[in-house]
Amino acid sequence: LFIAMEGGDGTGKSTQIHLLADALRDQGHGEVVTTREPGGTAAGTLLRSVVLDGDGITPRAEALVFAADRSHHVASLVRPIVERGGIVITDRYIDSSRAYQAAGRDLGDDEIAALSTWATEGMRPDLTIILDANPAVTRQRTTVRGDENHLDALDNDFHSTVRRSFLDYAAAAPDRYVVVDAGHDIDTVAADVLRAVEQRIAQ
Ligand code: C5P
Repeated sequence: LFIAMEGGDGTGKSTQIHLLADALRDQGHGEVVTTREPGGTAAGTLLRSVVLDGDGITPRAEALVFAADRSHHVASLVRPIVERGGIVITDRYIDSSRAYQAAGRDLGDDEIAALSTWATEGMRPDLTIILDANPAVTRQRTTVRGDENHLDALDNDFHSTVRRSFLDYAAAAPDRYVVVDAGHDIDTVAADVLRAVEQRIAQ
């Protein structure tokens, strides 16, 4: 089973992924692996620093680096585990590229989606969970957390575009997406996430 956790900055993806993985392990699911993009592999860690450290790179180059990271991540880690029956939960996947690079940076959804499909040889999540929250609220969370990254400098319009994009993808394919209100407390969100995954497993 392949699960993608998506959402804007500060929506609580990494916290929820760890709670979800622990809950699934407690339920007796054998191999449960958490990972992330960019940076889920050794090569991915290098690629992550190319896009996130320093002054950044041009938008198209950035999109290609995210795609390279994803390609290597899927081929070397995600696909082998899923094919042997394990559960992989990734912090970000193709929809992050569509939301940030295609919508946020105006690079074209068809092109970015096609690039990702090629990079991953069509590997698609069985379930994508969108953690949805108002960027004005999550901005406060990331500021409290002390995150310094290249997107902190970007304005609310960018983050609102990203948020709306995630919601649009979910609305277009409701059988493969669940939107969870990330504005609630951690335990409530965790329960909503787990329920969505249990329903998918039961299908
Ligand atoms: O998910 P994480 O916080 O590790 O992502 C690091 C940064 O990279 C975030 O600021 C996120 O918005 C950005 N990002 C991006 N395009 C992607 C994935 C992440 O701009 N495809």
